[in-house]
Amino acid sequence: LGARTVPDCSIAIDNGIIQDIGPKKRIAKDYKFDDEIDARDRIVIPGLVDTHMHSYQVATKGQTCDSELLKWLRSYIFPWEGHLSRKRARACAELSYIEMAKSGTTCFSDFTSTRFTDEAFSVAEKIGLRANIGRTMMDYNAPKDMLEDTVSDIEDSRALIMRWHGRCNGRLRFMVTPRFDVTCSDELLVEAFALAKEYNLVFQTHAQENLGEVAFERKRFGVPAIKHLNKLGLLGSNVLLAHCVWLDKKDFTLLAKNNVKVAHCPGSNMYLASGIAPVPEMLKNKISVGLGSDVGAYGNYSMFEQMRLAVLLQKVHTLRPHAMDHHTVFSMATSGGAACVGLSKEIGEIRVGRKADLTLLDKRSLAFSPLHDVIAQVVYSAGKVCVSDVIVDGKVIVRDRQLTTINEEKTIRRASKALVS
Ligand SMILES: [Zn+2]
Repeated sequence: LGARTVPDCSIAIDNGIIQDIGPKKRIAKDYKFDDEIDARDRIVIPGLVDTHMHSYQVATKGQTCDSELLKWLRSYIFPWEGHLSRKRARACAELSYIEMAKSGTTCFSDFTSTRFTDEAFSVAEKIGLRANIGRTMMDYNAPKDMLEDTVSDIEDSRALIMRWHGRCNGRLRFMVTPRFDVTCSDELLVEAFALAKEYNLVFQTHAQENLGEVAFERKRFGVPAIKHLNKLGLLGSNVLLAHCVWLDKKDFTLLAKNNVKVAHCPGSNMYLASGIAPVPEMLKNKISVGLGSDVGAYGNYSMFEQMRLAVLLQKVHTLRPHAMDHHTVFSMATSGGAACVGLSKEIGEIRVGRKADLTLLDKRSLAFSPLHDVIAQVVYSAGKVCVSDVIVDGKVIVRDRQLTTINEEKTIRRASKALVS
């Protein structure tokens, strides 16, 4: 793992793809441009990937500060999601996706809720982010107003695949998202996995996040989530598991053997007092790890913050300053995230032939003055305040800190109003 930095070069983009990278003079001579960004004062990094978040929970911000996972779900999240309206769902997606875009996140992976998933797709289509969006499934042990039957969970998801998957030149993708085995029947998990296989989709669920959850699984299945999924034959290279905080030796072997990916959410693991995920051991076992903000179990969408939390948490946990270096966490937020969402050959690196998903940082911001080590300063000093421009699929969606695809101010005002009325 390690990112290479290249000074003073130009990037030529056509048809959403990086066509060439080289000295400015040569690129200017070889290509004719319709549009140009003067990046002399910029640092260009691969667009950041948020591998795990819940846009429809964003409105619980500020109300949920002092709970552990199962109580947090019962007291705040289920009541909120259970009473969601279409209008509020849309407002949540708008506020979430605007914040992500302006924080330099170009690709995300969103568990919406059991209803109104169309709204998230429609907002992502409009704003221009690369989206992996799932409809949360639960057919067991859920509150009455959120409990669904197995057939409608699957059929609703299939209808969403038909309506949205692959749209906008493949920028919008459906993801199969049973919430977790605490609220899903085995039948649902098996059918959801089959649906993911049928359409070649990512299958994402939560696993071994918290000790209360693990105790529940032991009681119900005799084993925690990963061994339970393995028994059902549901571990594979298209599987993305969020959290994986409480792992034993056998779990590492199962994840590595089946090429399962992990969404590490350090902010959420601290926020809900869940624990410290053994990320260095996952990497030692060659398990692909990405980072997730896991909002609403965290307060904001900045992946800069998640990188910083991930690296600092391992230092303080192990008392070893080199427990996980800044190159490793930078890769987790870019190429690692790309692998998690099944796009490792398409995004996550600035390379000829890759999709042009890029984030530009203002070199004149305090984070980079003076500039000694770009990656170290991105990880330890930068924040969303440094993000000046964002490109997704070759299209500039944030230019000079303003969204180009929507009227930002008007949208934020309307969405905020919808969430308090
Ligand atoms: Zn989550």
